[in-house]
Amino acid sequence: MSGITKRYGQFLAVDDVSLNITPGEFITLLGPSGSGKTTLLNLIAGFHKIDGGQILVDGRPIHNVPTHKRGFGMVFQSYALFPNMTVTQNVGFPLRMAGADRETTERRVAETLEIMRLSEHAQKSPSQMSGGQQQRVAIARAIVMRPKVVLMDEPLSALDRRLRESIQIELRDLHQTLGSTILFVTHDQGEALTMSDRIAVLNAGRIVQIDTPVNIYRHPSNRFVASFVGESNLVEAEIVQKRGDMMTLRNKAGYVFNAQSRSAIDVGRAMVLVRPERITISNEAGANSVPVKVTSALFLGEILRIEAQMEGGETLLIRCTDSGHRGLPAVGDVLHASWGASDCWVLS
Ligand code: ATP
Repeated sequence: MSGITKRYGQFLAVDDVSLNITPGEFITLLGPSGSGKTTLLNLIAGFHKIDGGQILVDGRPIHNVPTHKRGFGMVFQSYALFPNMTVTQNVGFPLRMAGADRETTERRVAETLEIMRLSEHAQKSPSQMSGGQQQRVAIARAIVMRPKVVLMDEPLSALDRRLRESIQIELRDLHQTLGSTILFVTHDQGEALTMSDRIAVLNAGRIVQIDTPVNIYRHPSNRFVASFVGESNLVEAEIVQKRGDMMTLRNKAGYVFNAQSRSAIDVGRAMVLVRPERITISNEAGANSVPVKVTSALFLGEILRIEAQMEGGETLLIRCTDSGHRGLPAVGDVLHASWGASDCWVLS
């Protein structure tokens, strides 16, 4: 799709969005509430008309094709099952609408229930099932026609965390089994990182970065993506030197360190991202460390979550394992923090 625009009155909900999706890809639209994810999905589904740009499927424009003829499978946040039909009838509904004969319908429904591990619930009605089971029925209904493209709008957000995580894995496996293109909408960055081949991050109606989960996390293109995806420390620093993809910087506390950079800027101030789990702490000062004063320390089971202030006043969030049984530092303790050049990324 290219140059997609959608206005509600004067308000620009989707602003010049271009996105090429490879067949078979699992691609996620990730962004905060109101960033335009659902609007974009609805434009692709055909529920709304676009104001500008074009959407092509296999090279053909689909603007004038009605929703039911686009051939997309769809799953929504609310399961939207027919309450008066059994699971079998719900899943078979698209086949009956398409005029499939009884034998084909029965076979395809049985296969799909098997894939979604729902066979034992075939004769139940939706009200006799849990939220997770109902959402699996909705997914089964969306894939029963084996569509080339499945659109999913926050399908797991009504489920509790454990269930969400187990259906995330099921959905990934299902994607491998079916080979369909999946376009998935979520505001949950963890979900996007776990499931996607690529993530398109949206902010205020625009795509601000499209990349693999690893690159979105390690090499965010700007401050918004760095803060929205994962926890981040943004450290302000003065550029000392730039050599190719490496930069030497000095922060307010006087800590001189190297960082990776694809930024065009090579003088003045820069904003540097250091993820909390990439910071090493020690009780001893080292050649390459900065002293920090602990302002908060929490024991979270497998990890310690520490907040500590550098001399320049900036606070660092640190997540480290309790492997050395060093115990929880006390508020006011002075520790020494450091990070490696490959753990540090200069934002453009
Ligand atoms: P959420 O995660 O909360 O669902 P979203 O990223 O999916 O958010 P959209 O639902 O696409 O966001 O909304 C994008 C913007 O467009 C929002 O500011 C919303 O208020 C506005 N909007 C959406 N639908 C309409 C409408 N029918 N009329 C006017 N404004 C709308």
